[in-house]
Amino acid sequence: MKIIDIIKDKKPSLSFEVFPPKTSDSLESVRNATEQIATLKPSFMSVTYGAGGGTSEFTLEIAKNLQKNQEITALAHLTCVNSTRDEIKSRLKMLSNSGIENILALRGDITPENRDRTKWDYHYANELIEEIKKDYDFCIGGACYPEGHPESLNQKHDIENLKRKVEAGCEFLTTQMFFDNNLLYNYIYKIRESGIEVPIIAGIMPVTSGKQIKRSCELSGCSLPQRFKMIVDRYSDNPEAMKQAGIAYATEQIIDLFANGINAVHVYSMNKFDVATKIKENISEIIK
Ligand code: FAD
Repeated sequence: MKIIDIIKDKKPSLSFEVFPPKTSDSLESVRNATEQIATLKPSFMSVTYGAGGGTSEFTLEIAKNLQKNQEITALAHLTCVNSTRDEIKSRLKMLSNSGIENILALRGDITPENRDRTKWDYHYANELIEEIKKDYDFCIGGACYPEGHPESLNQKHDIENLKRKVEAGCEFLTTQMFFDNNLLYNYIYKIRESGIEVPIIAGIMPVTSGKQIKRSCELSGCSLPQRFKMIVDRYSDNPEAMKQAGIAYATEQIIDLFANGINAVHVYSMNKFDVATKIKENISEIIK
């Protein structure tokens, strides 16, 4: 099924993100974890893609398994940085032949290894979207950044670039994690004002490790509101307490989002069945 048809429904949608293994040694354990999460019957599941290509074959493997054997709509992430046109074309063919109908089209992060732009066939996500649109009928999503992408000059500039993705054929946008819903509400107001009308899926990260979230925030430019920073500072040395507090905070964000008319929430569940289960249980009546 196409994700646009799932999320344009007025019913709240809850989806989960998983990531593929780095090597074949852990393929089975990751596959098991994703199958467990699939038993929660999310609206769809997304499978990330390693920008360096390291996990790319496993993205397809996990997404295909979810869709064919678990009957869960899969959203396969695909990055274009550091890929040639031929590589992207062959990947698209494999996705299509495997019955995948949805792609999250991304540029990917620039790292010291892929910084040499002369080797790139694509420079931005909108170019990847144009490439996909040439020969395929995938439902295409893109990423958006309520606090601005770290490389962008300012939010206005970032939203102008976001518009290029939508004009290229992106049908929905999934947000970077954020910990203050007001940031999202203000952002949506601005992107609607700029003429972007596609549905927004709110990306929510249940924080289970204080150390990890501080590092992720440094890299992604996401801010931690003081109220949440206090929670992380207080519980980061106690993993079980941090997990409980992180799930409670994410649940509160999700309930507020649904109450304010955001119908699609994507949880960065990071292959953690227990976390995905708790979130689903906490809002079971709300998403009925
Ligand atoms: P783009 O949309 O290309 O934007 C990148 C930057 O360039 C922005 O600053 C933008 O303002 C600017 N820009 C865009 N278009 C143009 C243009 N035409 N001209 C000039 N400037 C432009 N990374 C992975 O490696 N694998 C994943 O699976 C993955 N999944 C993700 C899922 C979500 C929901 C999100 C939010 C991010 C994900 N990422 C993933 C990270 C992502 O690859 C990085 O954030 C990357 O730096 C930007 O990707 P993008 O597709 O948003 O890029």
